[in-house]
Amino acid sequence: MRRPVLSLVLPIFNEESVIPELHARLQEFLRQLGLTAEVIFVDDGSHDRSLEMLRALAAAEPRYRVLSFARNFGHQAAITAGLDHAHGEAVVVMDADLQDPPEVVQEMVAKWREGFDVVYGRRRSRQGETRLKLLTARWFYRLFARLIPIEVPLDTGDFRLMSRRIVLVLRELREAHRFIRGLVAWLGFKQTAVLYDRPSRFAGETKFPLAKMLRFAIDGITSFSILPLRFATWLGMFISVCSVAVAIWATLARFVFHATVPGWTTVIVMVSLLAAVQLIMTGILGEYIGRIYEQVKLRPLYVLSELINCAEEAVNDAPEPKTPRVSLLASPGVDLRAER
Ligand code: UDP
Ligand code: MG
Repeated sequence: MRRPVLSLVLPIFNEESVIPELHARLQEFLRQLGLTAEVIFVDDGSHDRSLEMLRALAAAEPRYRVLSFARNFGHQAAITAGLDHAHGEAVVVMDADLQDPPEVVQEMVAKWREGFDVVYGRRRSRQGETRLKLLTARWFYRLFARLIPIEVPLDTGDFRLMSRRIVLVLRELREAHRFIRGLVAWLGFKQTAVLYDRPSRFAGETKFPLAKMLRFAIDGITSFSILPLRFATWLGMFISVCSVAVAIWATLARFVFHATVPGWTTVIVMVSLLAAVQLIMTGILGEYIGRIYEQVKLRPLYVLSELINCAEEAVNDAPEPKTPRVSLLASPGVDLRAER
């Protein structure tokens, strides 16, 4: 297969209500694009009819390729799989629910042609999100900017165009807890933004409930900063200073003022306060140790159960085309020389 100019990567998790409209919009987009392109749908273990629908669409449209996961591995894993299998000179990652309008991709391509390696979509406005989501997202990205030495652009998600050299380097970063927007910012190169108004989800429900969002936020912070750990040291020092003051006060109370009997409240307050602080700090330590544990297991980031319109990969990588392929840590394309 000749390398297409553009690859679109769309993670799909239970999106049956969106797929028909998505298909129509993509077809219109591909017609107007005037470049060779491929669309990679990554089915992240959907339990609805999404995969069936994608199979039917891909049977009639050779530019559609489908990677199907053996179970739900999460949005960031789905993006990773798409990037691992994309052939384009530039790759655009976008949500399937039409919150990232295909039309904006044209502007991204124009910026890429000007010489930028990364063009991210920055939200000018957001429709149809809950107040809680808007508020938590706002706080999170501002807190993140303070904690992290690298500059992650504010008000952006994973909607972005990346040049092939960015994609090749990203493929080498196999960390288990992934915060891809942070990894891309960390890479550097020439980056710029296009502004767009983010519409509400075309149909269906968000696949990111609060708990999942919180986990993602903690992944983002812990994979780019050890400041929470350092915070434990600072807090420890502060409490040490306080405890010296308390010790002096207690000694004076015992030997100078002779008033040491009623101390129950102080003891209870001190013990419970210190226990709480210690547990929180152990928890923070645990977050990091847990991530080390996940990482050293070296499990693959995702397991594929089916590849559609990916004939050349099946021939290259699997001796038996029917064998479900497991993408190991050394993913396709790790060898930069072989890829170029
Ligand atoms: N998604 C996924 N796996 C998941 C959750 C979501 O592949 O475990 C996909 C989903 O199908 C969509 C994109 O990730 O294409 C963004 O999800 P969603 O629109 O629900 O998130 P939101 O826009 O509400 O943050
Ligand atoms: Mg969405």
